[in-house]
Amino acid sequence: MGTHPDGPAKLRGSGTKLSNHIATSKSDRDLNRKWSQCDTLIKEDIHLPFIMKIMSIRTTLSLQVHPTKKQAARLHRLDPINYPDSNHKPELALALTRFELLCGFRPAKEIADNLRAFPEFRIVFGERNARRFEEMMERNVNESSEEAKNCLAIGFRAMMEAPAALIAKQLLSLRRRLQCGEIGCLSNDTVKVLLKMQDDFPGDNGCFSPLYLNHMILEPGECCYYAAEEMHAYLSGECVECVGCSNNTIRAALTNKHKDLEILCETLNYRMTDPEHYMIRPNKFPNDNNIDVYDPEDCPDFALHQIKVDNSIIKQQNYTLPALGCGSIVVIVKGQAKVNDYGTIKRGDIFYIPPNEKTHMTITGDGPFVAYRTFSYEEGPDHSDATALRDIRTTAGNINFAGKLNAACKQDTLKLTGKLNMPKDVNVFDLGMEMDGFC
Ligand SMILES: [Zn+2]
Repeated sequence: MGTHPDGPAKLRGSGTKLSNHIATSKSDRDLNRKWSQCDTLIKEDIHLPFIMKIMSIRTTLSLQVHPTKKQAARLHRLDPINYPDSNHKPELALALTRFELLCGFRPAKEIADNLRAFPEFRIVFGERNARRFEEMMERNVNESSEEAKNCLAIGFRAMMEAPAALIAKQLLSLRRRLQCGEIGCLSNDTVKVLLKMQDDFPGDNGCFSPLYLNHMILEPGECCYYAAEEMHAYLSGECVECVGCSNNTIRAALTNKHKDLEILCETLNYRMTDPEHYMIRPNKFPNDNNIDVYDPEDCPDFALHQIKVDNSIIKQQNYTLPALGCGSIVVIVKGQAKVNDYGTIKRGDIFYIPPNEKTHMTITGDGPFVAYRTFSYEEGPDHSDATALRDIRTTAGNINFAGKLNAACKQDTLKLTGKLNMPKDVNVFDLGMEMDGFC
């Protein structure tokens, strides 16, 4: 759900692209007009800086990492086929069901434990590299030092470059060892993941990844976030995902898609840390206990609201979704409600809510009403590659466009008073895929 050209959301009925709607609609027009006056440019498309997804993971998703903005710009210039835009792609996943993923390198001690417990891992990592890693641990070298990161990087690269026959042989041996109950310090859950990965991707060098990456199991409502340079792979379960408006993925393994070892190795930050590092704890929205706010630090690209309205005591409860000073996308995952001037909204419906609009609703379903809302005060990336825009940027001396738009948003918030009902031009999207798969 978003405006990225590789999969743009369209308005139900008309087929108009959301990016085009934002650029021309009544509710957003003020922002767009301010933009146009400032920069003598009328835009056909205005992009949101985020993409929101509901994901249901059946097979492990590829082992991957995303570039920083600077790297993305360079990669897009060099290889626009495999790196289709110049934006970065921070990611946040909030579990709807028990949700498993691999994220970030394990703490150095755990990697060393696994090198000791699993000779197969040691062989593909390289005996000399493994010894160097252990020797470094004995000297109590800090795992966030350059020395420690280099040591990991060399072993990781050796493993990714190991001959296919060696990988296949060692995986087979590792499988037998695990099945015999020799599991070292691993949890039973991680053993299951290791075995399933081998079923799904036999002989793939990515099948060693649970031995050196954090295996995270999120319960419903738990949330994790990681920006560029962090290796990750989704394993199973359902989640709400927010990502930057980009399609740039550097894949390492567990996929038939394009892999790029050189770029991968130069992008990884080789941070070794506890999985707690990636967890995001929610805050309550001011004056509204129904809303949990997931707002990662240093991530202007998106924030997520979890909206849960209990309908068990007071039936037909009235609820007002607060106005935000920016556009947002809402997806309803449970329950139903009646919205003034619009009608019934229910599980599976997706809305774009323009800036500064409150949504008055009456919860009509039996159970709770649950929805997720993603928003950002940033300007979305430009996907047009328009020469005109580049020229203007250059002559204007790299004016900070995002700053201007932000200022415009804030002015609007201050200026607008009075009641704004959910208007008739509320936008409902057609759902492109089956929403079921979680309860
Ligand atoms: Zn990713």
